[in-house]
Amino acid sequence: MANQDDFFKKVVSHAKEYGFIFPSSEIYDGLAAVYDYGQLGVELKNNIKQYWWKSMVQMHENIVGLDSAIFMHPKIWKASGHVDAFNDPLIDNKDSKKRYRADVLIEDHIAKIEEKIEKECAKAQKRFGEAFDREQFVTTNARVLEHQKQIDEIRGRYAECMNANDLDGLKQLILDLGIVCPISGTRNWTDVRQFNLMFATKMGSVIDDSDTLYLRPETAQGIFVNFLNVQKSGRMKVPFGIAQIGKAFRNEIVARQFIFRMREFEQMEMQFFVRPGTELEWFRYWKEERLKWHLAMGIPEENYRYHDHEKLAHYANAATDIEFRFPFGFKELEGIHSRTDFDLSRHSEFSGKKLQYFDSELNESYTPYVIETSIGVDRTFLAVFSYALKEEPLEDGSTRVVLSLPARLAPYKVAVLPLVKKDGMPEKAREVVDMLKEDWMVQYDEKDAIGRRYRRQDAIGTPYCVTVDSDTLNDNAVTVRHRDTMQQERVSVEQLKGYLRERLK
Ligand code: ATP
Repeated sequence: MANQDDFFKKVVSHAKEYGFIFPSSEIYDGLAAVYDYGQLGVELKNNIKQYWWKSMVQMHENIVGLDSAIFMHPKIWKASGHVDAFNDPLIDNKDSKKRYRADVLIEDHIAKIEEKIEKECAKAQKRFGEAFDREQFVTTNARVLEHQKQIDEIRGRYAECMNANDLDGLKQLILDLGIVCPISGTRNWTDVRQFNLMFATKMGSVIDDSDTLYLRPETAQGIFVNFLNVQKSGRMKVPFGIAQIGKAFRNEIVARQFIFRMREFEQMEMQFFVRPGTELEWFRYWKEERLKWHLAMGIPEENYRYHDHEKLAHYANAATDIEFRFPFGFKELEGIHSRTDFDLSRHSEFSGKKLQYFDSELNESYTPYVIETSIGVDRTFLAVFSYALKEEPLEDGSTRVVLSLPARLAPYKVAVLPLVKKDGMPEKAREVVDMLKEDWMVQYDEKDAIGRRYRRQDAIGTPYCVTVDSDTLNDNAVTVRHRDTMQQERVSVEQLKGYLRERLK
């Protein structure tokens, strides 16, 4: 699976073929950038959400959950700044008539320069072998330094334009960098314009302008407006957090790359309320904690990196992204933002309700500062799914497709397979299924030769296959096959539950 594009196509087709992800409204030719999760996709997605919820809410005494409504009072989006400033800069190519996000064109240009640096490193690595010191190389090699200088200059100019909302400057940067439309190959660009990403709808049977509601573009605001409700009813003491998982909607200008950028998606967000002045300490804490959460899934560290923001949103005093090496390169997977007291202050101002906290240790009231961790469920899905999908050469010269998902995320934990469909084996296998299904998602499969059934389970990421054969009926033992090593072990049926529990912990 050498070529990135080919591999990404495989990810998309594998997700569809095995019932993970379908295009929305497919029999009506689909709906752009909207997807449905199929029978296996919903399991993997739920497991991701559960993993996040457990590690954020269950494992932290001072973090509690919330499930706020998608519809909210329209003033909330005025207060949050989304009505006025939740925009992306768009630009059209006059020849191809294709629309792009100006910032993404620039980011992609930077990514190409980064690729050149990677190539230099790869070449040097080959040359120096074991002795290769990447850190030293990238800080001393003239070509790498020249590339890095270019990147820094572009980022600097870009941040300046964005901070000053200088759309002409942004267009000039695109022209100066010689960025061409990937379709037409020309530099015939329109001016850059701002485009608001919120979907609007109407509420009630009598409709006038004041009834315009927005589908929430993030779940965070539901947390802020419930700050006092949760703090008071839960007797929460600062520092504490409120976590929420839910749908968000954005009318993305360019929605490509499968479930990476959707118009309807799901977020897992946590707002952590702290004493003013301690926010940067907590920012560093959550920056590290969140990366640990990713690494605990078992994907090697080199697939993640931080990207600290130079252009800060108007409400933030520090921000970083955790980026993941997706099949199309490093891109944002999660954002960690120090949002100051912006949100609570604005909601106080717009609602006329004081959103403050009385700190009994300090004997004073203040508006807490906030650290936010915000991650997309769908992007996490794409990250683990694309990392896990592998084509492995086997000793006999054939290959197998295996989805080596972390066991805790796998849709099915166990498949129970009677070796053949006769001689009491299916009945015995059904007994084993009944014994296990209260604890885990278990699949029963009796169709086709055993080798093909193993392949099917490999392809959907089932960590263990339990085979019932003719000996089982005499010795009450089964064969357990491990997905990753393909090794097999004989385990007695009485010990099977304990055996699996130990390994699926
Ligand atoms: P991007 O720069 O990629 O548009 P963002 O900075 O706008 O992302 P945030 O507003 O920080 O994203 O949202 C937090 C998280 O929500 C992101 O890190 C991402 O995982 C997820 N997310 C945001 N937009 C989308 C989308 N259109 N489709 C899927 N997930 C998304």
